[in-house]
Amino acid sequence: MKKELLIALGRHKRLIAIFLLTIFLPSVLLSIFGILALRNEKFRLEKQFEEEQLRIAEHFKSQVGSNIRDAENVLQLLRQNPILVNKEYEEIEPLLDDQVAENRLLGQFFIVYNDTKPWFLHFRADTDNPPIESTLGFNAAHQDKLKRAERYEFMQNNYPMAIPIYEELLVGLRDRNLQGQILNHIARNLVKSGKYQEAGEIYSSIINDFQKSKTSRGIPLVITSRLQLVDCYLKSGEGENALKESLNAIEEILLNWRDLTENQLKTYTSMAIEAFTNILDKKPDALPAKENYVKEFEHLKADYQVKIEQWKIINDLKNECIPELQREFMQTNTYSQNTFRYSKTIGDENFLILASLIPDNNKTGAQGILGVKINSVFFENDLITKIIEEVRLNENANFVITDLKGRVIFGEKTPSDELSGITLFFNDNFPPWRIEITNNQFEKILLKGIYKSFYFWTILTIIIILIFGVFLIMRTIFHEMDVLKLKSELVSSVSHEFKTPITSIKALTERLLDQKVNDPARMKEYYSEILWDADNLSRLVGNFLDSTMIEEGKKQYDFEETDIKQWITQTITNFRKKYPQKGINFNSRFSADIPPIAIDKNAMEQAINNLLDNAIKFTSGKIVVEIIVEKDENNLFLKVSDNGIGIHKEDLDKIFEKFYRGRNAPRHTSTGTGLGLTLVRQIIEAHRGEISVDSKVGSGSTFTIILPLRNNIET
Ligand code: ADP
Repeated sequence: MKKELLIALGRHKRLIAIFLLTIFLPSVLLSIFGILALRNEKFRLEKQFEEEQLRIAEHFKSQVGSNIRDAENVLQLLRQNPILVNKEYEEIEPLLDDQVAENRLLGQFFIVYNDTKPWFLHFRADTDNPPIESTLGFNAAHQDKLKRAERYEFMQNNYPMAIPIYEELLVGLRDRNLQGQILNHIARNLVKSGKYQEAGEIYSSIINDFQKSKTSRGIPLVITSRLQLVDCYLKSGEGENALKESLNAIEEILLNWRDLTENQLKTYTSMAIEAFTNILDKKPDALPAKENYVKEFEHLKADYQVKIEQWKIINDLKNECIPELQREFMQTNTYSQNTFRYSKTIGDENFLILASLIPDNNKTGAQGILGVKINSVFFENDLITKIIEEVRLNENANFVITDLKGRVIFGEKTPSDELSGITLFFNDNFPPWRIEITNNQFEKILLKGIYKSFYFWTILTIIIILIFGVFLIMRTIFHEMDVLKLKSELVSSVSHEFKTPITSIKALTERLLDQKVNDPARMKEYYSEILWDADNLSRLVGNFLDSTMIEEGKKQYDFEETDIKQWITQTITNFRKKYPQKGINFNSRFSADIPPIAIDKNAMEQAINNLLDNAIKFTSGKIVVEIIVEKDENNLFLKVSDNGIGIHKEDLDKIFEKFYRGRNAPRHTSTGTGLGLTLVRQIIEAHRGEISVDSKVGSGSTFTIILPLRNNIET
């Protein structure tokens, strides 16, 4: 195989060289140039997109920056406000509230004076809860009464004596807060003396009429009263009312949550939640509207979680951010005019903080820090969306903002984003996020650009030509290899064909010459053997020469009108003589009225002989050959059938090709050149006829020669 390939390549050296030099090499060079040009085109498109997006992104960044600067300006103004400088807490709240209402970017405000704990707008830090004296706000006479009542209540547990004194005290009070507190004491004493109904009534009235009043510790009375009311209802056996009231209590706590410290919020809520679940557990079936209660309860609980989250933010600010801020400011140590930008990610929360120093009264040093946590929900959801809508990004651009942890703040990341695009950061890296702009349509645009490009079509054409050229060369080479293979097979089979009869002739002639054979019968046998071998040889040579001559168009045919029946009978008789020793059974059948037709008798005999030779060669065991001659209106059919090994289906339409030997052949007989049937076909075609074969492996073959009755051949 390799050898044949090398020879074939060698033979077509020139062709291959010409192909390589004139087609292949220029094509490759042109393709390389084309690809380079296409790459440039891609870069150009990318650059164009990039520049456009960069411009837009810069605009976006400056918009965000200006919003942040606005917030900073607010801070700058606030810190110098006398209210802050003078620590007027009561005034600070409304002052900051106004700012929050005006600029939604401002989230949680906080102030840390150098000498106090951090203060958070609307949040009461646990530790800074001022311990209010129980006697605060009472005059001397009131205080006296209060002390007496408390003595009865707490030291002697004498509630019936305590209650009238409290009632007396109540009458003389103007202050709503104090009135509420005393009412609360009265109700407490009623509870202690087992008068739940009456106590409940008082609590209800506190709830209705003293909504703004607070306990001496600053806790809204409505909250404590509602919790007490739950208890009263329970103790007087009003389960459903207790249930309702426990829900009211939670609601009330959540409504007034900013008046509570974190601990108070948690404690009171858990008290109410516990009451609710206890009641529900105890009487699960007796409640027709149970579902509704549970639904409302879940709803309130979710709301409670939100508040807890807010407290978490306060705690994170207090514990994580503020100490760092203080350290940062302390480092500079001098009073700085600047606003400070600080960012930190804790859990899922982005803490973006603006802070500035509050000057002391002399305006030379700092007395604390004013800070604000940027409202991240507004910033991420509303502001960025709004700005992006304004800057109108290219519709093909995918705009994504991610934070330090890779969490997507804005937009949607798509897998193709890794491929191309630009990455930017905010000015001063605040917020410390990454802006990525990718072109999600880039491939499409690129393809469009490529299709329009002249280079693309040139490359395509060149590649097609190249493929075609390679295909042609390969075909030529494979064909050459086939021919070489056939030739070498032919040489080996032909030399074998020749060698056998020549060896036999030589051996027989030597014996005869040496006069070793004296018996005339034996001598005759020897001579006929020599004749048989010589016949074989001449047939072989004849086949070769004839086939070549026919191919070259040099073969001369000598047609004459022939009586087919007589001619066939003679041919069989002649053939039979060649195989005297074999017990071949020849059956021939002729239909009547076979007209004479013009044939070249010699050539036709050679064809029939080849068919008969094959019939014998490819049959093992008893040989039966059948020859049938029939006709229809136009044709004569000459069939030669055998009971041999048959022909493979795949071989049927190839066996008439030159040198083709079927797959049954080499196993069955070593002799043969694959020329016999080729010659038969050539001869039949010269008679304007056709030959076909019908065969089944294992049960024999039938070759049918069809000759036209009026072939108009000149005789
Ligand atoms: P070969 O020299 O091999 O006989 P032929 O051209 O005469 O060459 O025949 C081609 C092939 O057709 C054979 O190799 C054989 O496989 C198949 N063939 C031809 N005649 C017969 C037959 N009567 N029975 C079975 N196979 C046949």
